[in-house]
Amino acid sequence: MTKKLTYSILAVALVAVVVVAVFFIAETPSKSRFIAIGTGGPTGVYFVVGNAVCRMVHKEAAEGRSSGRKHGIRCSAPSTGGSTYNIGQIAEGELDFGVAQSDWQYHAYNGTAPEKVTDFKKLRSVFSVHPEPYQIIVGTDSGIESWGDLKGKRFNIGNPGSGQRGTTEVLMDAYGTKASDFAIATELTSTEQSKALCDGKIDAYGYTVGVPNAGVSMATDGCGAKIINLKGDIEKRLVESRSYYAFATIPRGTYKTTDSDVTTFGVMATFVTSADVSEDVVYEVTRAVFENLDDFRALHPAFANLDPKNMIRNALSAPIHPGAAKYYKEKGWM
Ligand code: GLU
Repeated sequence: MTKKLTYSILAVALVAVVVVAVFFIAETPSKSRFIAIGTGGPTGVYFVVGNAVCRMVHKEAAEGRSSGRKHGIRCSAPSTGGSTYNIGQIAEGELDFGVAQSDWQYHAYNGTAPEKVTDFKKLRSVFSVHPEPYQIIVGTDSGIESWGDLKGKRFNIGNPGSGQRGTTEVLMDAYGTKASDFAIATELTSTEQSKALCDGKIDAYGYTVGVPNAGVSMATDGCGAKIINLKGDIEKRLVESRSYYAFATIPRGTYKTTDSDVTTFGVMATFVTSADVSEDVVYEVTRAVFENLDDFRALHPAFANLDPKNMIRNALSAPIHPGAAKYYKEKGWM
């Protein structure tokens, strides 16, 4: 009798194990999807944007496992060369999402700067993030106070693939400056440039980036570098003639050497994807970010003022992806 009971319990347990195993084998692989988000250098703000998005996606996944609202998306946000690299890789299908400057989003979608960024009509916007002033950071003893003073100096124009490389070239064109006007025009990445400045290997670098950030503070707080004003006639003309530029202020006290407000022109960081990425993936990613916006804001000081109304309206020249639009309509924002 006891033996019989033991056998029955064993049989029931075995069936249960098989059922559970079959359920997992059938469910898990088909439900998990991997997405990759292109960012920028590890000391910049894009890297934080991409990883903050992944964090919210994984948070929703964890909560969904207990509430039954599963999305099965796994996310990674590796460091990359920056804006134009990200757009190019999204066009290739190598990345699903990316962070990109609003000027390069505009040019990629409209096909207006094919030599600088991939011409990509299927580019879609998801939301805009933080403002990114274009900054020229100069060594403490460099004597550089304006664009004109860069002549004959060692200037880092940035790595190909970065947004700042393109924006630096726009400024060079506007001023009629050639690379040969600099003593050298280096192509260091955003991660290398502050160390090079502090080590005396370059005199200045140009960087389009959110405020404040670790990379710039390495140079300002670390070795007394300063950010110069860029608010003359040339910059005024750029801002007046191009919808994606606006003047921006880096407030006094932002860094140790910012002893007065700095005015320069800049763009917005935007989160983009491709029309080929499925509606449900974009919907889930968008939802994860906006349902957890307070947590998202807390991850970087440059995100402090993020407001959904501006994020879905400002600086988006490519059409909003239908997956994102679906969420915005559900919220009554569109
Ligand atoms: N704006 C830069 C770029 O497009 C990246 C800035 C950052 O990493 O935060 O390459």
